[in-house]
Amino acid sequence: MKNLEKNIDPFESIQKILKKSCDILNVSCDLYEILKEPQRVIEVNIPVKMDNGKIKIFRGYRSQHCDVIGPFKGGIRFHQNVNRNEIKALSMWMSLKCSANHLPYGGAKGGIVVDVNELSENELEKLSRGYVREIYKYIGDRFDIPAPDVNTNEKIMAWMLDEYINLTGNNNIATFTGKSLEFGGSYGRREATGVGVSHITRESLKKLDIDIKKSKIAIEGFGNVGSNTALSLQKMGANIVSISEFDKEYGVYTIYNEEGFDVEDLVSYFEKNKSLLNYENKKFLVEKEFSSLDVDVLIPCALENSITEENAKNVKAKLIVEGANGPVNYMADKILEEKNVIIVPDILANAGGVIASYFEWIQNISGMDMTKDEVLNRLEYKILFAYDGILKTREKYNVSLRLASYIYSVERIYKSLKLRSRI
Ligand code: GLU
Repeated sequence: MKNLEKNIDPFESIQKILKKSCDILNVSCDLYEILKEPQRVIEVNIPVKMDNGKIKIFRGYRSQHCDVIGPFKGGIRFHQNVNRNEIKALSMWMSLKCSANHLPYGGAKGGIVVDVNELSENELEKLSRGYVREIYKYIGDRFDIPAPDVNTNEKIMAWMLDEYINLTGNNNIATFTGKSLEFGGSYGRREATGVGVSHITRESLKKLDIDIKKSKIAIEGFGNVGSNTALSLQKMGANIVSISEFDKEYGVYTIYNEEGFDVEDLVSYFEKNKSLLNYENKKFLVEKEFSSLDVDVLIPCALENSITEENAKNVKAKLIVEGANGPVNYMADKILEEKNVIIVPDILANAGGVIASYFEWIQNISGMDMTKDEVLNRLEYKILFAYDGILKTREKYNVSLRLASYIYSVERIYKSLKLRSRI
């Protein structure tokens, strides 16, 4: 979160790791060439009539990386720092994430350059609908299925899906996932990413021989992913001792409580006050950055480039679980590997969201519904199955978990490319 402004290109980082994984797999020199760029990147300019009567143009993107395993799938984010390369990187991560977790999808990601805090509700709705007007010909339940991401939610999905239905005349609610329960959504989808992160954290702690009930955990970001991760880990007995968040006036802040917070109380306070800055039950507000906290586990759940070459050397935690996409950059990865810090990569750790999206899509298409327990139990099975496969790959090639997860997932993509004679 702190390093938002830094100019670290996640697309270059991901290409480097992709190249390494293709080289290690050594199956075809064309594999990297096929995967290094998205199949299609759509760039749009969306006119919105603002509340003051003037038209403002917003830049938007949809990057569709690779659809060899199945339809493109991935969220849409609204953020002032959205840019073409970021969205391209995120779409490639989605291809890897879907493949690693055995979902019948390829990867996509969309985004709009906008500071949501500067828009009224009315302007936000117009922007959401305007985006769909520009891209609706390129999405669909068997073609590309969008979902929420940073700063987008069930309400925005409802506006987008409604616009899609109006434009196509096709009442196909399976075209978007992450919807509200009243409009085709699934039980468990809202908390799914955090629940997935917590399963992966629990299993990783076991491997490190750390008792979860004695573990100290710091979380960066208290949005949907961060808060649900904290809630779910607390249920497992972990101590959530620190939360880092962003306050519009104050900037980045970190609250810390040695004994562990009451997360439910934190969540209801945050919902009410939109900030934890003045939360009374905190022990103190630490000046320290999230990355340097003296805890067992760091769980970055905000944006890319939270842990970089500049702060990686200060990391004291033994385990980092990537709740966000791309929070540890390429250089930091190397430094942390030398320090023997285990990093569970995003494409595994935060896959719970898209896994639950898959169950939502299945329910929409089949007309059969699942209970919350069914969704969350299946999610646990799927994400741990992927974890097991990635651990075996790590042993086989003697590489980091990140590289192992890329190899595991790229190999599955390669097999599909081969079966379909695309390589
Ligand atoms: N935005 C989430 C992600 O990055 C979920 C995507 C989806 O459900 O399609 O994984």
